[in-house]
Amino acid sequence: MDLAPLIRNVPDFPKPGIQFKDITTLLKNGPAFKEIINGWRDRYASMNVDAIVGAEARGFMFGGALAYALGLPFVPVRKPGKLPAATLAQAFELEYGTDTLEIHKDALNPGERVVLIDDLLATGGTMEAVINLVRKLDAEIVEIAFVVELPPLKGRERLHGIPVHTLVEFMVE
Ligand code: AMP
Repeated sequence: MDLAPLIRNVPDFPKPGIQFKDITTLLKNGPAFKEIINGWRDRYASMNVDAIVGAEARGFMFGGALAYALGLPFVPVRKPGKLPAATLAQAFELEYGTDTLEIHKDALNPGERVVLIDDLLATGGTMEAVINLVRKLDAEIVEIAFVVELPPLKGRERLHGIPVHTLVEFMVE
């Protein structure tokens, strides 16, 4: 299925100059959502994966569904102050200022093999923070999967040479 027409472009959101790729229109298409999850399920079923990791909030939608499809644990990476037990934190740069993501200290065991999931790869800053958190727990990252990639923003260059799998590209910034 051609996924690109199912993703809505919203110009100037959340601020002028940004072409926001809205995946809610894709989520409204049940067969498309199912095709994405089943495609990833088939891809990762044979890679000895122990857990799926997704970042708040859209990484939960795709990563949670994939974990269910594979019958694997799902590990949430969240914004600060949301996870209730002991956490590790990782700050990262945004276009203006910094942000932080957290993971539970006991979310993964050393040596566990994980796949990282998010909806969209832009500059890569968000996913780089997730990589750093997972590596602090000494887990091994098998691959990183996104639905959408914006190649002009060169996000792959920040992902430490880890294999990256994407489904749709838009040549916009
Ligand atoms: P980045 O850290 O720059 O790779 O940005 C990735 C995160 O921000 C993802 O979780 C996306 O959901 C969101 N994001 C960044 N840019 C866009 C965009 N143009 N359209 C939709 N979401 C975006």
